[in-house]
Amino acid sequence: MAANRRLGTAKQAALNRFRKRMQDASCIFCRIVRGEIPCSKVYEDEQVLAFQDIHPIAPVHFLLIPKEHLPTLSETQVDHEAVLGRMMVLAPRLAREQGADDGFRLIVNTGRVGRQEVFHVHMHILGGKEPLGSMLPRPKT
Ligand code: AMP
Ligand code: ZN
Repeated sequence: MAANRRLGTAKQAALNRFRKRMQDASCIFCRIVRGEIPCSKVYEDEQVLAFQDIHPIAPVHFLLIPKEHLPTLSETQVDHEAVLGRMMVLAPRLAREQGADDGFRLIVNTGRVGRQEVFHVHMHILGGKEPLGSMLPRPKT
């Protein structure tokens, strides 16, 4: 029993060291993951964290991020399939729980053209009771 507990603690310490390595000291979302910056938490598990966007643009607007520091979706590799899959599966469940029970929009701004501002992959999950505005204004013809 005591040995099991010791193993558990050692495992946890190794996991914490691994996490630290996988995080970027200056990244604002890594700092939220580490609890250095407060957030209004929506959901958390071993792999992901969801929290309210600080400047919401819809009645429901929260962010879902991997805990591991991954700057942009352009840099994903095969190893990220599990966590990204987890995020896709969680998104509708969390959206419903936050009140977006009749659809939502999921946005992942990526890189310069995608106008990504925070370089730690995040899904914006947006919704409310009424349909959202159009995705992008159509170019005038
Ligand atoms: P993006 O343009 O896709 O990189 O969006 C970054 C999002 O992060 C914006 O919607 C910001 O409002 C949001 N944001 C930035 N800092 C924080 C923070 N400390 N807590 C919650 N949301 C944040
Ligand atoms: Zn980060």
